[in-house]
Amino acid sequence: MIERETLRREFERRYGRPARLFRAPGRVNLIGEHTDYNGGFVLPMAIDRETVAAAAPREDRTVRVFSLDLDEEATFDLDRPGRPRRGLWLDYVEGVARALESRGVPLLGADLMLLSDVPAGAGLSSSAALEISTGLALVSVSGRTIDPVELALAGQQAEHTYVGTLSGIMDQFVAALGREGHALLIDCRALKAEAIPLDTERVVVAITDTHVHHELSSSEYNLRRAECEQGVALLGEHLPGIEQLRDVSVEDFERHAERLPETVRRRCRHVVHEMARTLAATDALRRGDLEEMGRLMRRSHESLRDDYEVSCAELDLLAETAWGVEGVLGSRMTGGGFGGSTVSLVRRERLGEFERTLTEEYHKQKGFAPTVYVSEAGGGAREVSGDE
Ligand code: ADP
Ligand code: MG
Repeated sequence: MIERETLRREFERRYGRPARLFRAPGRVNLIGEHTDYNGGFVLPMAIDRETVAAAAPREDRTVRVFSLDLDEEATFDLDRPGRPRRGLWLDYVEGVARALESRGVPLLGADLMLLSDVPAGAGLSSSAALEISTGLALVSVSGRTIDPVELALAGQQAEHTYVGTLSGIMDQFVAALGREGHALLIDCRALKAEAIPLDTERVVVAITDTHVHHELSSSEYNLRRAECEQGVALLGEHLPGIEQLRDVSVEDFERHAERLPETVRRRCRHVVHEMARTLAATDALRRGDLEEMGRLMRRSHESLRDDYEVSCAELDLLAETAWGVEGVLGSRMTGGGFGGSTVSLVRRERLGEFERTLTEEYHKQKGFAPTVYVSEAGGGAREVSGDE
């Protein structure tokens, strides 16, 4: 748990006045990977780890932000845009401020302070937690309110324009709208979500961090997007009217797949089948059929590994080891790939054995240990009241 009192105290010490606190969670995606930017379905849940932004307004248009996690302060001026894509953590904060103003939410200057227990770069979307917590803080201390979907879109815009990753909407959407005890089935085209109850009494959601993050992830990510668009253009010659892979059914795809060049065919095959798997997994969850959910997670991993090619040796090692552990219903890489974490459904009484086996096997092959987190499905972004 975040030491919210520490954050309040440090803020007052540094900035000389009290702050309001705003939190946004990290997330783990249960299934539906690389489908969001294809207009498809995803099934993530917010985790019980969060980024908290303490904030107070200023008289001028300066934004100062201190990250307690990095012990570093950065500043920008709302009237003088900094250069985007500097590769700094400030890109996320300045990016969301600019996105909010460009979407018609005028902001006041502010002092901000951040504290987070979402591990950065672990595939749990610390970046969306950062964007959504600071976005909500900036809007609120400016005396404004914002629709959570609009806030999510501003976070995504920050990634696109300021960070330079053409991410889909999943991370920001679930950070803004996550619901305790539930996964969200998000329709990334309609920007609508349905909360699906997640019973974690007998089966837990275990996240295992590889502690690796391969450098090519951002460029490969953008390349996959382009390959999907190429697939839509080529399939469109036979399926008139399609705009995104979302519009292509499994049957239509299989009928026309042969006309696609090899690589594009495999990319599209992943996306089209992954969307179907996500809907099937949602049905399985609704029925309480966690065995089926687990099988679909395994197929998702195999497809990401073989067809979409966004896995890596470390993710494969963790997922494949997990498949062999008794009491593991399913396991797959989660998030964009090339490092980060896996997500597994594990029978509660087998959790100890799961953690032991993965740690031993990974350590044997890599020389260092992964980290296992167990998380309940947490709530979305909101203000934290004074006594919390
Ligand atoms: P992920 O979203 O999977 O955690 P990203 O690379 O997208 O990985 O985002 C991680 C980056 O977000 C960090 O390198 C840092 O720049 C920024 N960040 C996240 N949390 C914080 C924080 N509490 N303080 C400062 N920067 C942060
Ligand atoms: Mg991120």
